[in-house]
Amino acid sequence: MTAEITKPEATKEQPKPQATQAKPQEEKQTNCLACNKPIKKLKRYYRNGKFYCNKKCWRKATLKTKEEKV
Ligand SMILES: [Zn+2]
Repeated sequence: MTAEITKPEATKEQPKPQATQAKPQEEKQTNCLACNKPIKKLKRYYRNGKFYCNKKCWRKATLKTKEEKV
């Protein structure tokens, strides 16, 4: 028997153009900065460009940042 060697088809893997978008996803702030709970659309407290659940959490967060600054 003559061993016929079947050549494996040389399929050259072409370098794919990177289709994976490596964009750093900017996460929208959806959690309260004070208690880290997810903020619902209607129940949110917006202060200084940040969202909190309510005034209480906002005060909590502000006090926190104040302490950090001191
Ligand atoms: Zn909160």
